[in-house]
Amino acid sequence: MRAWRPKQQTARLTPAPADPRAWGARCDVCPLRGAKPVFGDGKVNPALAVVGEAPGREEEAIGIPFVGKSGEALTESLERAGTTRSMVFIDNAVACFPPGGDMKAFIQRAKKQAKASGVEWHEPVDCCRPRLFFALGIPQCSSCGKWKAGPDSCGCKAPRWLYPKPKEGVERRPPKTLLLLGNAALESVLGVDGVMARAGYVHAVPWRGPDAMVKP
Ligand code: SF4
Ligand SMILES: [Zn+2]
Repeated sequence: MRAWRPKQQTARLTPAPADPRAWGARCDVCPLRGAKPVFGDGKVNPALAVVGEAPGREEEAIGIPFVGKSGEALTESLERAGTTRSMVFIDNAVACFPPGGDMKAFIQRAKKQAKASGVEWHEPVDCCRPRLFFALGIPQCSSCGKWKAGPDSCGCKAPRWLYPKPKEGVERRPPKTLLLLGNAALESVLGVDGVMARAGYVHAVPWRGPDAMVKP
């Protein structure tokens, strides 16, 4: 099948930082370090943000998320829903293409590597989660440093949820609604293991920013 190319959008809508660590990515503990990251792209403060699992080969080559087969399907779905790619923000739980597109193998390697280096790790993609959370405008507890994943508190008696300061050349894109495609996106954003109980769940969140998270 011919690779899909955006009809209107031939370049990124928003500039990407040269270094994923500018968005807080922990590439030093990630088995994919050295790969070419594909950063989220789209509207600033959109009504909807879509988060998938990871870029594929075509996304890696073009440097824009969701431009392969899944991108074609997503673009058509958005158009059927009366919107366009340029009106939403699109990102992935993991910014780099996992070898062979094998997320399961990547997650296993990442967990093993974190354990071997004594790094605290939450499934499935802790290395890239700060980058995604920063982009989506999810707040971080200034007392313990944990990000506010889903409706759960960090465990501090009086958590202070703050938005990290925007870094140079990087803008946050807090959406009203998050559409999470796939287990990696759901687990990463909600910070939960085993998503079966949450499948088909409309998740109201209490922080300023996303109003709801939906998994189809
Ligand atoms: S997946 Fe994320 S954390 Fe891992 S190397 Fe790529 S940008 Fe860095
Ligand atoms: Zn805390």
